[in-house]
Amino acid sequence: MNMYLLTNLVYIVAAALFIFGLKMLTSPDTARKGNLISAIGMLLAVVVTLLSKGIIDYKWIAAGIIVGSIIGALSARLVAMTQMPQMVAIFNGLGGITSLLVGWAAYHVMVASDLFTTTTIFLAVLIGGVTFSGSMVAWGKLATYINGRPMLFSGQTLLNGVLFVGTLVAGTFLFINPSTGYAVFIGIVIMSLVLGILLTIPIGGADMPVVVSLLNSYSGIAGCAAGFAIQNNVLIVAGALVGASGIILTNVMCKAMNRSITNVLFGGFGASAIKGASEIEGEVKPITPEDSYYLLEAAGSVVVVPGYGMAVAQAQHTLSELGNLLEENGSEVRYAIHPVAGRMPGHMNVLLAEANVPYNKLIEMDDINRTIAGVDVCIVIGANDVVNPAARESKDSPIYGMPIINVDQAKTVIVLKRSMASGFAGIDNNLFYKENTRMLFSDAKSGVEAIASEFKKS
Ligand code: NDP
Repeated sequence: MNMYLLTNLVYIVAAALFIFGLKMLTSPDTARKGNLISAIGMLLAVVVTLLSKGIIDYKWIAAGIIVGSIIGALSARLVAMTQMPQMVAIFNGLGGITSLLVGWAAYHVMVASDLFTTTTIFLAVLIGGVTFSGSMVAWGKLATYINGRPMLFSGQTLLNGVLFVGTLVAGTFLFINPSTGYAVFIGIVIMSLVLGILLTIPIGGADMPVVVSLLNSYSGIAGCAAGFAIQNNVLIVAGALVGASGIILTNVMCKAMNRSITNVLFGGFGASAIKGASEIEGEVKPITPEDSYYLLEAAGSVVVVPGYGMAVAQAQHTLSELGNLLEENGSEVRYAIHPVAGRMPGHMNVLLAEANVPYNKLIEMDDINRTIAGVDVCIVIGANDVVNPAARESKDSPIYGMPIINVDQAKTVIVLKRSMASGFAGIDNNLFYKENTRMLFSDAKSGVEAIASEFKKS
């Protein structure tokens, strides 16, 4: 069998493994196995690509593998769960710059004005460049190296439009005269990098998750274009899978954040996060762990709403223990998961799975909201924005229209957090002032431990 045929057969097997792996990622039960299966697919694809005759020098590849593996292994071990979005942003950016560089290399070996190749090189460079610089801005904002507030200036949309049209004009020149147009090519690289920055700086606050997942999709599309540019089938398939799954995730996130996809694509959104919310009425009613115990002890149904604070405090194990104690006491316990709770998609699911909370007890936002009025006690652990009733009640609130978990409609709400401080969106929460809300001021882990120890004493 010739090498070309063998390579492509292995690529088909690798692509099938990617697809099966992705399918398995849709359920927490099979997610780990799915990840492994996709990784095996990638290993096969890399090995068979390395055996291809086209490789001139293995030294640089070996150096890249060694350095990359060390950096990858170290960052996977050292990164805190709460810093995961920053890491995803960096990975997206690296995917983007890789596609840009592959497109750049392909430009140097391009021989004729072939429309298809020129277009794919152009797309790999444009989308790769936007992904890289956009992801770096997203990383800077998430890691607070750059001000998280939306940065707006007049004529921003016009400038974005001019730059985009500029890249299209330069791309057309590239097609007309590929060999002498190097300055034009460099122009496309620079314009795409600037465009990535300009498209990301206007986005701030609570809209960042949408941008991270959109950039993830861009990195896939850029990879797909690079695959066409160098005619590598597995790169085309892998890029298309990342691009498509990223756009699906973006759509899910958009719905959860109440943002339209057009809003995201044309930039400039999130500026409303700097507007103020209306005056809050009512008074804050603190509660002790002992009194929280009495409320929970008498509750027939309890809904736990975890958020970012649970991740910070690493309270998931203690929380799972409290859940068991509540069940032993005869309560029905469910965990309500908001799609953007925490700092990355699936953040709460991962932490609760780590603490062995059964998957069937994790209930999605819409399902829990349908039954919330009959719930005796909702206990909110380190969540804030995702339970803020202003999203439903205050038309002038920056998060107005964002779907939330309607904990305020339960009979009683206990909010466990350290202070009255705001969450990621930086806005006040009128839940804390509602008649049926009690505030348990504590670190999430020690607060849950204190309630659990009351159950153990009884
Ligand atoms: P929030 O960021 O709204 O609120 C978290 C709350 O946790 C804070 O108000 C804080 O209050 C409290 N907290 C922090 N540390 C502790 C601790 N050790 N113990 C107890 N409480 C603590 O979190 P949510 O999960 O409700 O909402 C997620 C937000 O993050 C949304 O705005 C979302 O848009 C955004 N986002 C989501 C991403 C995603 O993909 N999921 C990615 C990026 C952003 P206090 O200081 O008083 O304790």
